Amino acid sequence: MDQNIATTEVLLTPDNSEIPQSAPIPTICPSCKNVVDLTYNFCPTCGRKLKNAPIFVSLTKEVWIYCVSLFLPPFGLRWAKYMGQSDPRIKRIGALAIILTVLSTAVTILLAISITNSLTTTLNNQLNSTSNLGL
Ligand SMILES: [Zn+2]
Repeated sequence: MDQNIATTEVLLTPDNSEIPQSAPIPTICPSCKNVVDLTYNFCPTCGRKLKNAPIFVSLTKEVWIYCVSLFLPPFGLRWAKYMGQSDPRIKRIGALAIILTVLSTAVTILLAISITNSLTTTLNNQLNSTSNLGL
């Protein structure tokens, strides 16, 4: 009885840090129900796609993504799909691409409004001075 309790406590311990992350974890193919290695992208038995192939993003590519998101706002959203990746670094890149796109769009709109306002003010001033001269 005492032994059972001890075993349960060990199993319930939430600390999984002792399990190495790279260790192959068996999973079950949703299509053919065969046990497959979790690191596989495709089921070796039926060929079903098990997960999205991991994406590798170099630092150069990362910087490129941020630049495109910042200067060509709509195109930054093509990397929004990175949010669905399991790699936290890729996820972060996707999130940043979206944030930069939104920020860039907001700044563009604000700039457009302020330029329109200043143009309107300038035009009004010119019209006023012209009509003052005329009269
Ligand atoms: Zn399968």
